Amino acid sequence: MSEPSIFTRILEGEIPAEILAETENVFAIRDIAPQAPVHLLVIPKSAAYRDVVELAASDPALMSEMVGLANTLAAEHADGDFRLVFNTGPGAGQTVFHVHAHVLAGGLDEGSLG
Ligand code: 5GP
Repeated sequence: MSEPSIFTRILEGEIPAEILAETENVFAIRDIAPQAPVHLLVIPKSAAYRDVVELAASDPALMSEMVGLANTLAAEHADGDFRLVFNTGPGAGQTVFHVHAHVLAGGLDEGSLG
């Protein structure tokens, strides 16, 4: 058995973090090291998928639930507009191999990728 991920430990209350919102299968917390005025993490309660590629291939409904919660949170914590980032693989900066989406919002007009 591998060690529980940091996000599982947060969900189970072993590591303190405020659960900002949750749905049946997904929960959200603030990122401990914010990279934007609003930087939240949307995380499946299950650690079954290590990254978004596995998630999308196996459970698109769960991915949709994550996007829906990100949208709700962006409206509650910012003006409704947001970036959704899935770091995928260590070379792209992924450090926690329990899939999660970064929700970045608030004052993002500079540094657009588009
Ligand atoms: P990744 O680098 O895997 O895409 O994202 C993992 C994120 O989890 C990082 O942005 C990091 O700051 C955040 N993180 C790591 N440990 C904790 C923690 O204990 N609490 C919270 N709230 N965020 C964490």
